[in-house]
Amino acid sequence: MRLLVVEDEARITEILEVALRRAGFTVDVVTRCREAREAFANAPYDAAILDLGLPDGDGLELLAHLRSQGNAVPILILTARDAVDDRVRGLDRGGDDYLVKPFDVKELLARVKALLRRPGGLLGSTLTAGNISFDTVECHVRVGTQSVALPRREATILEHLMRRLGRVVPKGLLLEKLYGFDDEVESNTIPVHVHHLRRKLEEAGCDAAIHTVRGVGYLLTEPKT
Ligand code: CA
Repeated sequence: MRLLVVEDEARITEILEVALRRAGFTVDVVTRCREAREAFANAPYDAAILDLGLPDGDGLELLAHLRSQGNAVPILILTARDAVDDRVRGLDRGGDDYLVKPFDVKELLARVKALLRRPGGLLGSTLTAGNISFDTVECHVRVGTQSVALPRREATILEHLMRRLGRVVPKGLLLEKLYGFDDEVESNTIPVHVHHLRRKLEEAGCDAAIHTVRGVGYLLTEPKT
């Protein structure tokens, strides 16, 4: 899953990047409102962490702008402002949750995951397809009763295939979900990840199948009963 961090304090962005990547997220960091607007317009984020005091404006205005555009991405507001009025204003403007600095990284991760678990959010369930089960909170994949260890990108591909079971997942969408703006992407990267994923699932005795739809993307199907 891909997150946007909008924060101008380098010390904090470093902590967030490390913690979020370690938790399996793809992370982009921007430091200004203007960059954030561009990023939201150009990439499909699953959630965002938003600082309020930004060098070129107020995060609350950015938030109001996003909501006025119909962008419903879950947003965790992260700020030094702890007055009750500020919290209420942040939630009124369309923030989903609010964490005051200084914060505990573990708590931040728990809050981000909670946002993604909300109704309509992306986490919160165990996905199943054939004999594969995918616990999206723990990021744990099983085939039958056997655990299958998957690197982050292979797990993300599997998750998207399972969420669109029986429908084609375009390769372009997978690329957008897997890579941040600063990541280097090689042209055959998705086919290579899919190849490894397919092999690991097959070796574990998986009865669902990943099909390649040439020139378009991939499709996961359950066994016919
Ligand atoms: Ca700031």
